[in-house]
Parts: sequence; C-alpha cells; structure tokens
Amino acid sequence: MREFDVTIVGAGLCGSIAATMLGRSGRAVALVDPSRIYPDDFRVEKFDDDQMRVLRNTGLGEAVLAASTHDRSVSVSMLGRMAEKRISDQRGFDYGALVNLLRREIPPSVAQIHAKVTTIANGADRQRVTLSTGETVEARLVVLASGLNNGLREALGIERADLARCQSITFGFDMEPAAGASFPFRALTCYGEHPRQRIAYITLFPIGTRMRANLFVYRDLGDPWLSAFRAAPEATLAHAMPRLARWTGPFRIVGPVKMRPVDLYETRGYLKPGVVLVGDAFATACPAAGTGARKALVDVERLCNGHVARWLATPGMGVEKIATFYADPEKTASDRRSFALARDLKRRTLDESLVSWARRWAKLALLRLRWAKTAAADASSRLVAGAEQPLEAPAGSPGPRP
Ligand SMILES: Cc1cc2nc3c(=O)[nH]c(=O)nc-3n(C[C@H](O)[C@H](O)[C@H](O)COP(=O)(O)OP(=O)(O)OC[C@H]3O[C@@H](n4cnc5c(N)ncnc54)[C@H](O)[C@@H]3O)c2cc1C
Repeated sequence: MREFDVTIVGAGLCGSIAATMLGRSGRAVALVDPSRIYPDDFRVEKFDDDQMRVLRNTGLGEAVLAASTHDRSVSVSMLGRMAEKRISDQRGFDYGALVNLLRREIPPSVAQIHAKVTTIANGADRQRVTLSTGETVEARLVVLASGLNNGLREALGIERADLARCQSITFGFDMEPAAGASFPFRALTCYGEHPRQRIAYITLFPIGTRMRANLFVYRDLGDPWLSAFRAAPEATLAHAMPRLARWTGPFRIVGPVKMRPVDLYETRGYLKPGVVLVGDAFATACPAAGTGARKALVDVERLCNGHVARWLATPGMGVEKIATFYADPEKTASDRRSFALARDLKRRTLDESLVSWARRWAKLALLRLRWAKTAAADASSRLVAGAEQPLEAPAGSPGPRP
C-alpha cells in the first residue's frame, strides 16, 4: 500500500490544478483518474479576466495564457441592436486541451495513477482509497474532485440535492461565414431577442483560427426545438435570432454540434472527516451565468493556498478542520453569487412583463451611452497623440456591420 499526504480523486480542471499546487508545495500527493489523456469533453470554453485573476493565484495563469486565444475586443448586441463594442480580455480554449495542458504542469513528484476510485473508507485520521486495479492507497486527506460523478459521493453518504433540473442547455459549435471570408469582429455576444425564444445569449469567440459559439437556452429536454436545432442549426438559429445575421452576415455551422443540459445541484451532508469536495463534486453552476469555472477555481485556490497546509501541520483530519474550508468567506461568497446569477439570468431572460421590457431597453440605452463616451474619450486621446482615425464608431452609429 502506498501512503501520501493527499489523494486527489479526479484529474479534471480542479484535480489537475490541486495536484500542481500541492505538489509544488512539497506535499506527497497521489492523483487518481482513469484517463491518461483527458477526453474531448464539453465544458467551459473560455475564461474572462476575473477567472484569469483567480487562476493566476494558483500559479497556473501563465500556462493558460500561452495556450488560449485572446479575443481582445467584443461587440455586444441587445434586443437585436448593437449595444457596445469594448476591449475584452477573454481567453478561448478547448476544455480537453486545457485540462491536458494543466496536467503537463503537474510536478513529477506527484504520483499519477490511471485507475478509477471505487471506494473511500474515511476517518478522522487516515483515509483508505481503493482503486479499480485492486490497489489501495492511503492518505491523510482525500480531495474529491470527481466532477458530476455521483457514485463516490453517495457511497460516502453525501446527498445530491437538486436546485433545478435542466436549469439550462448549452450548445457548442463552430461557425464560419458562408461567403468564406472572416467575421467582422473578434468576438460577439448577442442576447436573446425575445423572451419567447427562451435564449439567454449566444457568444462567439476565437479558439485558434476557429470561431467558436456557445448558445445558452432555457428549454425542457423534451422540447422539439432541441431536435429542430440539431437537425437544422443554421435555420433554427436564424429563426430564433433573426437579427444575428446583421452582425455575422450569412453563416454556416460546421463540425459537430454539442448539446449539454445542466442540472443545478448542491450537496448535503458533505462535512465528513478526511474528505473535502471541490468544483462540480461540491455543487454545479449554470453555464449560462458563466460562473461554474470561477466557482471551481475559487474552491481549489482557497483549499490549496492555505487550508491544506494548516490541516497537515497538526495530527488528525476531523470535521472541525474540514469545516473551515466550507466556511471560507471567499468560497461561500463565490457559491452564493454563482447561484444568484444563475437564478436571476433565467428569470430576466424569460420575463415578458412590461417592467422587464423597460429594463432591457434601459440597459441597452446605458450600454450605448457608455460606448459613446468611451469612443469619444478614445477619439480625443488619439487626436492628442496625433493619430488620424478614432478607434470606435461615434455615438448613435449603428455599430459594426458585416
Ligand atoms: C456544457 C457545459 C458548459 C459549461 N460552460 C461554462 C461556462 O461557459 N463558464 C463557466 O464558468 N463554467 C462553465 N461550465 C462549468 C465548468 O466547466 C465546470 O464547473 C468545471 O469544468 C468543473 O471542473 P471539475 O474539475 O469539477 O470537473 P471535471 O473537469 O469534470 O473533472 C472531473 C474528473 O473526475 C474524474 N473522475 C470521475 N469519477 C472518478 C472516479 N471514480 N475515480 C477517479 N476519477 C474520477 C473524471 O475522469 C474527470 O477527469 C460548463 C459546464 C458544462 C457541463
């Protein structure tokens, strides 16, 4: 039997980062995951600047920067009108490629074991983890980073409590201009044009030389719209967002269309001696709200930048130690924010009341005002610097067009 300070179950986003952080800090770590190469799984495909900030605190920001595509600027459309064009700091990537990149950062001192964890016998002192190979590893602490897999949680007596079944459905696909040239923007976000279409927004962003699209919709799994979209994505999207083509021009959807419903759940009874849950293993977030990866990154950053070192400094791994992580103010704030954003975005998207329409138009007006002010400031600073052309369209212009 091999013995470690920490055994990490799952080498996805959270597990791979945790293994690197704890390995770099000199801990004896085992990382267990069945896949040698993380598969091409559909999850988060871009980080915003806030997520990058958290990632930098894990020491892995530079690696991700080097392997992702910077969008630099984004055009935003609301109610089918151009609302603003602003500088943007989002980074696009394929999730599988990102996790494999993070795995390459794991120091050689970490024992990477390619097997499935079948059981965890936990206690206030040592944890025994049994693998599908029949091997057993022992550690003082188990970090459960096994994502959406419910089996291990259930076996530990941790209950999955659904907050919303099929909270949203995410589509992921590549888009290209039908005419063969390139799109007239670096990145584009278009909010749903009418609540009846049940679309939160579509976001287009570059990954390498491809233009990737993520479309977030609120529909039941049995809704015929979903099969219509899969059968004829261009026509169904054009019908649901008739003004999208104003910014994209005629477009084609190329390659596979990935579709993934997401349940919003949290866990109950998670306070166990010797075991701590992070990322999707602890709770999910709605992809439409764009907070899932941030929530997962905050979990790992908080856990590995303090709690684990404190816990290992004294004997025992009882619940009083584990509880300090679940009570971490930054973690609890991140979890609360993630749930609130998911709930609010869905409510606002589907609300057909007059008040809600008024709010949408007011938001559009505010964004256009901000855009005009930024464009004016930019134009005057370029004039002062002797440049010839303002960077942005002047106030009141209809914005970028194909
Ligand atoms: C379709 C979709 C779109 C999303 N879009 C966004 C977005 O736009 N913005 C955003 O912020 N977030 C988004 N998210 C959320 C974000 O992607 C996740 O929160 C994050 O990837 C979770 O990482 P994780 O490490 O917890 O899980 P994962 O990356 O899923 O890793 C889990 C790992 O555990 C391993 N494992 C499971 N069981 C075992 C076992 N028994 N033994 C050993 N290993 C095991 C698996 O093999 C896997 O490697 C999206 C999620 C989905 C599903």
